Amino acid sequence: MKPKKTSAQFAGDASVQPLRWTVFFGDPQQAREPPGAPELLGGKGYNLLEMTQMGFPVPPGFILTTAVCKEYHGTGGSYPVTLVDEVNRCLKQLEQLTGKGFGDPNQPLLVSVRSGAPVSMPGMMDTVLNLGLNPHTLQGLVTASGDERFAKDAYRRFIHMYSSVVLGVPHAQFQDAASQLKQSTGISEDHDVDPDKLIARYLNIVAKKTDKPFPSDPMEQLWGAIGAVFSSWNSPRAKIYRKIHHIPDTLGTAVTVQAMVFGNRGKHSGTGVAFTRDPATGEDTIMGEFLINAQGEDVVAGIRTPCQISLAEARAWAQRQAVGESERTAKYASMEEAMPAQYRELIDLMTRLETHYRDMQDIEFTVENGRLWLLQTRNGKRTGRAAVRIAVEMENAGLITRKQALLRVPAEHIEQLLHPGLPENHGATVLARGLAASPGAASGQIVFDADKAVTLAQTGTPVLLLTTETSPEDVHGMHAAQGVLTARGGMTSHAAVVARGMGRCCIAGCGALSIDLANRSCRIGDHRLKEGDWLTLNGNTGEVLLGRIATIETQTDAYFDTLMQWADEARRLQVWCNADTPEDARRGRQFGAQGIGLCRTEHMFFDSARITHVRQMIVAESRPEREKALQHLLRYQRDDFRAIFREMDGLPVCIRLLDPPLHEFLPNESLEMRKLSKLVGKPVDEIIRRVSALHEINPMLGHRGCRLGITYPEIYRMQARAIMEAACELSAEGVKVLPEIMIPLVALPEELVFVKQEIEAEIALVMQQKSTAVAYSIGTMIELPRASLVADKIAETASFFSFGTNDLTQTTMGLSRDDAGRFLGEYQKLGILSEDPFVGIDEEGVGALVKIGVDKGRATRPDIKLGVCGEHGGHPQSIDFFHKVGLNYVSCSPYRVAIARLAAAQAAVR
Ligand code: PEP
Ligand code: MG
Repeated sequence: MKPKKTSAQFAGDASVQPLRWTVFFGDPQQAREPPGAPELLGGKGYNLLEMTQMGFPVPPGFILTTAVCKEYHGTGGSYPVTLVDEVNRCLKQLEQLTGKGFGDPNQPLLVSVRSGAPVSMPGMMDTVLNLGLNPHTLQGLVTASGDERFAKDAYRRFIHMYSSVVLGVPHAQFQDAASQLKQSTGISEDHDVDPDKLIARYLNIVAKKTDKPFPSDPMEQLWGAIGAVFSSWNSPRAKIYRKIHHIPDTLGTAVTVQAMVFGNRGKHSGTGVAFTRDPATGEDTIMGEFLINAQGEDVVAGIRTPCQISLAEARAWAQRQAVGESERTAKYASMEEAMPAQYRELIDLMTRLETHYRDMQDIEFTVENGRLWLLQTRNGKRTGRAAVRIAVEMENAGLITRKQALLRVPAEHIEQLLHPGLPENHGATVLARGLAASPGAASGQIVFDADKAVTLAQTGTPVLLLTTETSPEDVHGMHAAQGVLTARGGMTSHAAVVARGMGRCCIAGCGALSIDLANRSCRIGDHRLKEGDWLTLNGNTGEVLLGRIATIETQTDAYFDTLMQWADEARRLQVWCNADTPEDARRGRQFGAQGIGLCRTEHMFFDSARITHVRQMIVAESRPEREKALQHLLRYQRDDFRAIFREMDGLPVCIRLLDPPLHEFLPNESLEMRKLSKLVGKPVDEIIRRVSALHEINPMLGHRGCRLGITYPEIYRMQARAIMEAACELSAEGVKVLPEIMIPLVALPEELVFVKQEIEAEIALVMQQKSTAVAYSIGTMIELPRASLVADKIAETASFFSFGTNDLTQTTMGLSRDDAGRFLGEYQKLGILSEDPFVGIDEEGVGALVKIGVDKGRATRPDIKLGVCGEHGGHPQSIDFFHKVGLNYVSCSPYRVAIARLAAAQAAVR
């Protein structure tokens, strides 16, 4: 692909500082210059440049910046006009530095071509290695290395990689060709295959599939790979990855072209991946895996079982795998034992890198004929548990500030610490063990491919994805699944890294698993299972268990407690919880909730013993008849409130009066109708008539919320009585009760005035009867646009507002919260919406109404208490917004309370 036209943005305008298209690295003679930003160089390129400037051993190379990517996509596939000259200049410099020539048949220079976005994106294009090989340079490599097998192996890998990544020839065709050749010649090991025969077969596949011979011109190869990286920025899997991880589409990727070094040149060569801390637990210990006589792809692809870097890890690994010491030293010797000098150098460099970047590093390295090279460093992906521990320990060591420590842990990742585990004595059969690659435990029905995982998960079934290994094409299936089990791969395999980042439990490298895709079945040890069977994974221990096991909550640790304490000291927003039962209340309080922000009373009506009385109340046609049914409900509600108040002793409890349309409680089956007719002594016909009379075409905009309280004041009166009788009784027992009564769906200030008068009259009666006074407050939900717009008038009657952002989103956007999911996904795919507005608050629209409500409410009543109880109250980015508009608290489900505490602290220190 050749450049076609000049960048309109920069051409001929000397006043505009041109963005750099290319940056060279690794030349010791080169003047030290500011490295530029990761936004321009990509994370990978930026770190390589920095490492060379720190004097670390890095093979030289050059970067095509993200500015080229933007230009490429902005112009529909053209490069800046000067790019070819710049790349040629960089190649010259690389040739001079390495003493080799690109396309030189005597001393061939080979390069790797990798993508490198400003943030790490495993969903992007894979690397192409050994680029520059053709039949002529191959001979040069044979001569230069003196190792024909190595050179031909490199060529074979290159044809395979380049063709699948750049030319789109399916990966499996090469694997099949290799298997067939092995079978037809009766060979079982890869390295015994005749490389010439394999190369010939590979070239044949490419020619057939693309109607062209495999490109032999190194320059054509290079531009092909560069184009493939830039195009891969907009590949479906990269787009999905960005969507899941909230990465803006506008960043673009850089391309790094780097001189090759070889880890597969015999027993004094090797390659590996290492972390400066344990990415699963956060423990301050070097963790990593490497393979002697291998290329990097062998480690991450999980084709061979890798060895450990340190001796201590190797011993621990052998114990877990039940491998004896003599077998371990023979087959799985650590790098510390096999290459002690390079090991020491590696540890020293890793320590310096971590101190420099002040974060846990994930490093790729290669040893070529005894010489250590660093190929990459980046901030390592880690579990939530590891993130917390690393942040706290780095703060304690003075490496980062407390503010940085708080911002270091993505609030969503806290959830992983609260992930379920399995009970000690579950008694289930352990079918096999693998690597505990990502924590948590999950039971689900097994499936063998990503698409099936998605379709089954959509039916609400928990799913486990079982595969031989995973690749970026499986990301959507991993996201849909509860857990992932792979037959191959280590702790740094694709499955392990991606599952950890997503918070899915994962067991990798479970050798006992073999999958028979054709028959949709698998074997785990001696057991045969078919698709849809139940299995349980324990990502904390690596155990694969037969059948379904109920999971239990996990324990948090001291690092978590410390971080939460720092969060509580830093945040201004209070965090309350949404709880309808005493159990929810207790859990919320355990997670640190400072009150209940929403108790939905209708949830208490659905109990089988109560629903009859609710129905009796609804079909009643006179007030006395209705009051009779309400007497029963009064008892139930009073008991509920007593239990909840007791749990929340000393903390506010905001109870919302009945909200949903009445017909939601009515029976729609004839048997149920007959039962009701018997109970209330009315003919079935009449019940049917009453049910259909209550039917509404558009119930969410219908007879619900305070509209019920206005037309049936006795319902709200009963609820107010239940709340205050419970409050008076507990208060007499010495429990500190702080009741807040909340009126839903108010649009008109007059509605609130009416309802408040009714319930205050009832409350006065209760206090008189009980001869007790308990302080209470009455407020409203702001969940309709009109309520926000007239919030100053509503505040004359309300002592608090709670923004019901679920309904406010529904009514502001005119989107049904129950049905919009059907097409919102399409909106996100098209980029019309960047996020589901029922998950993250639409700041511009719904958020603007919240802000109006806040300002108007405070204008009338400066001390008005303001909170939010819609789902957005537990969403970190939305919490940042609620902090900025000045709410007093957010209220969310008990499990999200810890996330909200951290998110509120991050909002405060950001
Ligand atoms: C809301 O609308 O945001 C709210 C919290 O109430 P519900 O979800 O019960 O309608
Ligand atoms: Mg609502």
